Amino acid sequence: MGDPHTDPAEQAETVIERLETEYPDSTISLRYSNRLELLIAVILSAQCTDARVNAETEHLFETYRSAHDYANAPQEELAEALSSINFYNNKASYIREACEIIVEEHDGEVPDTMDDLTDLPGVGRKTANVVLQHGHDVVEGIVVDTHVQRLTRRLGITTEERPEAIEQDLLDIVPEGYWVQFTHLLIDHGRAVCTARNPDCSACVLADVCPSEKGDGEIDLASGDRWD
Ligand code: SF4
Repeated sequence: MGDPHTDPAEQAETVIERLETEYPDSTISLRYSNRLELLIAVILSAQCTDARVNAETEHLFETYRSAHDYANAPQEELAEALSSINFYNNKASYIREACEIIVEEHDGEVPDTMDDLTDLPGVGRKTANVVLQHGHDVVEGIVVDTHVQRLTRRLGITTEERPEAIEQDLLDIVPEGYWVQFTHLLIDHGRAVCTARNPDCSACVLADVCPSEKGDGEIDLASGDRWD
């Protein structure tokens, strides 16, 4: 077990500092060239890796170019085009319905407010935050995905469990200038070192400040269980 700062804000500051050095080019890994592609890619990325989404959208974005195209695509055709993605049937429905609303209520443009975005089917606060940040340059929250959820708990930055509650905690803890980058840094570290099942604490730059660091039968604060 490492020796964490007792103040979550200081802990977050140290985490940011160390991870910035470790991952200087950290950024969003979904590929897109406009706001609509970004929205589609983020909807598809729920419970699916960004690499898989990128492989699929390479062809998808050549076929479907506007919200009108998705809204008018037959359900079976769009589902078939997404068949390598988890929950492709549901996601195809969400995308078609969301694009129908975008065409009918937003002149075919991806909306730029949290309320309008979260009114779209398949779009929760996490997806809306990504689209606002990277599509509209509007930063009003922190994206809490599965990596951010796991690492902030492991690192003792929050004890909340639900993503929405974790985000509210983080908004008071993480300096506003880092609200976007904090997510990318934790995602990079979660993929490279602090993986869900088998984090490599011996190679971790945060080991000395991490209360979950695997030492003498310590507890994984993300799950509350002892490490195997
Ligand atoms: S890899 Fe280990 S030491 Fe590093 S953040 Fe994850 S649990 Fe903590």
